[in-house]
Amino acid sequence: MFVFDAPKQASLAVQGSDDRFPIRRIFCVGRNYEAHAREMGKDPTREAPFFFTKPADAAIDTPCAIAYPKLTNDLHHEIELVIAIGKGGSEIAEADVMQHVWGAAVGLDMTRRDLQSEAKQLGRPWDWGKAFDDSAPIGPIKRIAEVPSVERGRIWLAVNGELRQDADISDLIWSVREHISTLSHAMTLEAGDLVMTGTPAGVGSVVAGDVITGGVEGIGDLEVKIGPRA
Ligand code: MN
Repeated sequence: MFVFDAPKQASLAVQGSDDRFPIRRIFCVGRNYEAHAREMGKDPTREAPFFFTKPADAAIDTPCAIAYPKLTNDLHHEIELVIAIGKGGSEIAEADVMQHVWGAAVGLDMTRRDLQSEAKQLGRPWDWGKAFDDSAPIGPIKRIAEVPSVERGRIWLAVNGELRQDADISDLIWSVREHISTLSHAMTLEAGDLVMTGTPAGVGSVVAGDVITGGVEGIGDLEVKIGPRA
C-alpha cells in the first residue's frame, strides 16, 4: 500500500486510437544535426552522441497551450523526431534497434536557453534548462508499421506562420539505429521510453502569445500556443 495515491501514469495519445502510450523515461540526444551544433558554437565532427533526460510527466499532448515557464527570459523551441520504445533491451545491435521501436512522433524539446547556457558556463547539469513543467509537447504517436521512414523526411517548425527550422531527418549525425544502440549500451531500455533525437538549426526564442507549428513528414504535426508566464 502506498502512503498516498501514486502519481498518475504519464502518457501520450496514439494516432487513430483512444489508446494511450505509457511513458517511462524521456531521453534526449544533444547536438545531433551539424548546422545546429555549429550554431551552438560546437564542432559536430568531434563528438560521440550524448544524452540528457526530462521527467516523464514533462510530456504533454498536442495541440496544447503551455505557460511561459518560470525563471527564464529566453524560452527556445527545438523541433525533434521522437522515437517511442515498445520493447526493452540492453546492448541492442544497430541492426536490431527497429525491433524495439513501437512508434514515432514529432515533439518539442522546449529549452530555457539562458539557464542552460549558465549551467554550461558553470559546469553544472543541464536539468534546469531542459527538464521543467510541460517542456516536452509531443504529437500523437504513430505506430511504426504506419511510419514510412525514420531515416528521411522533412522536419520543420514555424512561429506565427514564419518558418524557422527546416531540415531533413536524413541530416541526423547519429541515425535512430546508431544513437538508440549507443543509448542501450549505457543503460537498459524499457518499454515506454521515449527518445527525442535532436533538433536541426534555426532554434530561437518564443514569447507569450506565440503559436508554434511543426511536423515531420509522414509522421505527424503539432501546434503549441505559448501562454502567459506561469
Ligand atoms: Mn533538443
